[in-house]
Amino acid sequence: MDFSLLNSENAKIFIYIPLFLLGASIGSFYFNLSYRILDLYYTQKRKQFKGLARLKELLITPSNCENCAAPINSLHLIPIVGYIFTKGKCKHCGYQIPLIYPLGEFMFGLLAVLVFQASNNILLSFACLALTGHLIISISTDATHFSLDYENLIWIFAWGLLVNFLLTEQFPGLMDLYVILGFGGFYALLYFFYPRGIGLGDVLFAPCFAFLCGHPWWMLFLNASYIPAVVISLAFRNRNEKITNIPIPMGVYFCLGLFITFACKILFTYFQFLETERPEIYE
Ligand SMILES: [Zn+2]
Repeated sequence: MDFSLLNSENAKIFIYIPLFLLGASIGSFYFNLSYRILDLYYTQKRKQFKGLARLKELLITPSNCENCAAPINSLHLIPIVGYIFTKGKCKHCGYQIPLIYPLGEFMFGLLAVLVFQASNNILLSFACLALTGHLIISISTDATHFSLDYENLIWIFAWGLLVNFLLTEQFPGLMDLYVILGFGGFYALLYFFYPRGIGLGDVLFAPCFAFLCGHPWWMLFLNASYIPAVVISLAFRNRNEKITNIPIPMGVYFCLGLFITFACKILFTYFQFLETERPEIYE
């Protein structure tokens, strides 16, 4: 990583604010994209828009109200600020805009700043935002429809590889290959012998995610996925329901696990850097 650039702490302040706003805008894009994917691929509109028309509807059509489809004026589209201006309501129909939008935008802005603070690498900041954005798309489809889109996996894979490369300046090695083969074999067996307990999406997603985490981080990935899955499922189940009978959207937790693991990888690299380059901090 290039830490020589912008080493002065004062100079950073002038980057934080635009970076936060840009991060929030990227968050706005991804939350909107998640909504549109659910709307266009998982409803009757699936038949209405096809091919290029669907892509145009997905990426180019200006934002409109989820409830009444009235166009949203550009001032109100500004991340976070727009929500505060409109008091979170559609001007036309009074529809209460879900709080997840401004909160998500804020989290993206914060993430951009935190990654930059830890790495001094603006490209890594943006790659992390894109990776998180595509994780959110998978979380939203799996949480609502128990469905993981393979098209989105390609994006997660590509952004994940870029984040890894920017972080370590290394390409995946032989150990990482063992990880994907091990996970692939394990989940294929599980699917073969216990198909009720696992979806085909999970069989594909889990090994790819473990590969992105790499060795030895796949162990953290496994724990960071399954521990929240079990704890949250137990906490929110109906009293008389057995844990083995609850359908768990594992894709949601794999995404969470990947996010936690990457956050730890970035922190680990940061502390490694501090230890070698600025040992005075540890004295
Ligand atoms: Zn409306």
